[in-house]
Amino acid sequence: MHKQVNPLISDRIQEIRHKYLTQVSDTSHSKIWSSVSEKEDYITVTIVIPSKGCSWALSDNGGCSVCGYVNDSSRENQIPVTKIEDELRRLIIEAKYNKPLELQIFNSGSFFDKSDVPEELRNTIIDLIISSGQIIKLSIECRPEFILKEKTAIKEILKRLSNIKLEIGIGLESSNNAILLDCWNKGTTLEKFESSLIYLQSIGVEVKSYVFIKPPFLSEQEALRDSIKTVFDAKQMGTDVISINPCNIQNGTLIYELFRKDEYQPPWLWTVLHLIKIANEIAPNIKIICDPTAAGKERGAHNCGKCDKIVLKLIEKAVQREKLPENFSEICSCYLNWEILMNTPWESFRTRKLSKLRKLNPLKE
Ligand code: SF4
Ligand SMILES: [Zn+2]
Repeated sequence: MHKQVNPLISDRIQEIRHKYLTQVSDTSHSKIWSSVSEKEDYITVTIVIPSKGCSWALSDNGGCSVCGYVNDSSRENQIPVTKIEDELRRLIIEAKYNKPLELQIFNSGSFFDKSDVPEELRNTIIDLIISSGQIIKLSIECRPEFILKEKTAIKEILKRLSNIKLEIGIGLESSNNAILLDCWNKGTTLEKFESSLIYLQSIGVEVKSYVFIKPPFLSEQEALRDSIKTVFDAKQMGTDVISINPCNIQNGTLIYELFRKDEYQPPWLWTVLHLIKIANEIAPNIKIICDPTAAGKERGAHNCGKCDKIVLKLIEKAVQREKLPENFSEICSCYLNWEILMNTPWESFRTRKLSKLRKLNPLKE
């Protein structure tokens, strides 16, 4: 039996979370966020609902060390179901699309956690999706414990959705339980993830596994190794999709505190590119997605500043499994610095110096 939390880390996370959420207690600004993106054969509409907030983040355990999504949740000031219903009606019923629609409804928590998304809201969302007549696929997110607890509800929704495909994204993050416990404070385990995946696939739900790059307390090299192993394990477990998510620093989190004290740096874009390249080899038949938040910025995955845009393009190419240049060191001199870093296992204790490393020209200095 694995420990659920390590008080050494969870107590600190809870302290930071509590302090920050007290400062940003006015949630009246919470609003529904949406975006539309057009692909060749379909249109994706993404809607983020500010639900009550991830119950793991709001618990006495403080939630995950890297996640600040709860900052934007509505908490006690829950948005009325009718308001969300009106907005969804506008986005998925009144708006007419010329291609089939893939709908992503995210609540930055768990869709099947009743304290986060009340049953009334969940049913209203499903009713609207069914009556839309344009939707071919619905993607939502959920923590493993709520998947295992709400099996009946999931089955019922699946039945009601009929031929609308259902995909559930689960935060695997790392397949190493020690990292989930001591770096993430994830409050779940690889075993629970696997049980949820097996159950969902047995009833015909697709599983998207979120794989994270660079939690706190790992060096760049350790983080890359951990994400490669996680991609491998996700593939072995039979995931349908792998979503690769490099860290971005969000306020009110443990990782922000470490970043502020120069004890943590987000991953390099070179690390992200390498991971996708290797993931393509490990999992040639699995769809890989990667759309890094705050990429190229100080708080997101970045390189030296000069090559960030070019490397982001290469990441897009890698996701599309297009051919990549043979020699990355010809793209930018910071690649050599990254290689030095990859041979520096103790990086997390010297980030102040190493953050400057991104900008040094190894040929001149
Ligand atoms: S990563 Fe997911 S489970 Fe963890 S605190 Fe954020 S929303 Fe909750
Ligand atoms: Zn560079």
